[in-house]
Amino acid sequence: MTTEPIVRARLLLVEDEDAIAVPLVEGLEREGFDVTSVRTGGAALQAAEHADLVLLDLGLPDVDGSDVCRTLRRSSDTPIIVLTARGDELDRVLLLELGADDYVVKPFGFRELVARIRAVRRRTGRPDATESERQGVQQVGALRIDRRARRVVIDENEIALTPKEFDLLARLADDLGTVVRRDQLIEEVWDEHWWGPTKTLDVHIASLRKKLGNPTWITTVRSVGYRLDVAR
Ligand code: CA
Repeated sequence: MTTEPIVRARLLLVEDEDAIAVPLVEGLEREGFDVTSVRTGGAALQAAEHADLVLLDLGLPDVDGSDVCRTLRRSSDTPIIVLTARGDELDRVLLLELGADDYVVKPFGFRELVARIRAVRRRTGRPDATESERQGVQQVGALRIDRRARRVVIDENEIALTPKEFDLLARLADDLGTVVRRDQLIEEVWDEHWWGPTKTLDVHIASLRKKLGNPTWITTVRSVGYRLDVAR
């Protein structure tokens, strides 16, 4: 197991609705993030310099969130994920022009938001605390995944995986015991703009199962995704 110190990534949540902000802060703290929550654009601009990533609601009581986004982007390159209830009106191009790195449309799933935070931080070269923890060695039962060396060992025998098979296994292992949706796997392991046949995913899973030699470890959840379970 890794013994490196864990540095928590600092998230700034800018959201005026308690019904959204309170559970979000709790959930994100549980995920290992250090979360500061503010309700106004003015407070956001003051607090942003201490943040590693900003989650920004567009509908704020004092100023328009899109102005906050533009202002933040002018003064720093801190990643910004916009939380918008206006999915239809604000297209991706406009948000990217404002300087946002990504956006989620309300109501969004918590797992989806966490996945986007991690994806944005990976993409912008700032792997977060949970991420650096995940860069280490993960041992579950007989399975050992070394993300830094990109090696997989089962009962002391190294398993030769292709790069995509490794990424797929590592992604499933990130959410051990939980179903990871097909579209998430395709987006995160391949590319978010990957439009190839989703059959490719099944082919890689089949090959991975065979190489792991424990076909029960990866469960197919029909038309949803896949789940990795390893007996401890
Ligand atoms: Ca709002």
